[in-house]
Amino acid sequence: MPAYKRILLKLSGEALMGDDAYGINRATIVRMVREVQEVVQLGCEVAVVIGGGNIFRGVAGGSVGMDRATADYMGMLATVMNSLALADTMRQEGMTARVMSAIAIDQVVEPYVRPKALQYLEEGKVVVFAAGTGNPFFTTDTAAALRGAEIGAQVVLKATKVDGVYTADPKKDPSATRYAQVSFDEAIARNLQVMDATAFALCRDQKLPIKVFSIFKAGALRRVVMGEDEGTLVHV
Ligand code: UDP
Repeated sequence: MPAYKRILLKLSGEALMGDDAYGINRATIVRMVREVQEVVQLGCEVAVVIGGGNIFRGVAGGSVGMDRATADYMGMLATVMNSLALADTMRQEGMTARVMSAIAIDQVVEPYVRPKALQYLEEGKVVVFAAGTGNPFFTTDTAAALRGAEIGAQVVLKATKVDGVYTADPKKDPSATRYAQVSFDEAIARNLQVMDATAFALCRDQKLPIKVFSIFKAGALRRVVMGEDEGTLVHV
């Protein structure tokens, strides 16, 4: 039995790049989708928020010198591309997926309508929330916290490159150890980086736990969903 009935999975755009420098790596997206498929098959209802950093970020790279809000809208459009790619791959792998966008682009994806998202989840469809929160000056981490709270997810699963939150940067300090769990207050006191500050505050206010884990570790998502010791749980 899965430990969670409904989850909100946050994938970074960069996770789709694989070893490429830009864009979407085919083998990587297929592998990632299969990890999600495993937890759908366990009976878990899955919603996904995907970032756009593999294509465009409002505060870095090609956006330097641009008007911030315009750059952020471009970043949100990048998340729509990733969401379409993700849902397309899911369909090819035999799953049922729906993309819902926070920005109206009706010819491309349906708009985000909360009751409809809830209906899809109840029907066992994977819902991919595109275009972040729909607002500039936010991130897809915040979109994940927001949608997670809206759909009543029991946990926000933050997929990263590292398999949890560590006492120090494990790349720099070999003696660093992973927290199996840590409270929101302790994470603040120790200045641990879990999600961006807005996302973190929203989850804390809503008493919505965050699990940080590595999407690059085979089977980690399934182990997280089964409640096994994997990653770091940030709890109330
Ligand atoms: N973005 C935004 N509002 C949102 C979500 C995203 O303006 O609610 C923009 C922002 O410019 C951001 C970009 O979209 O840099 C891509 O999202 P993010 O950086 O969160 O992607 P990730 O780092 O997860 O790939």
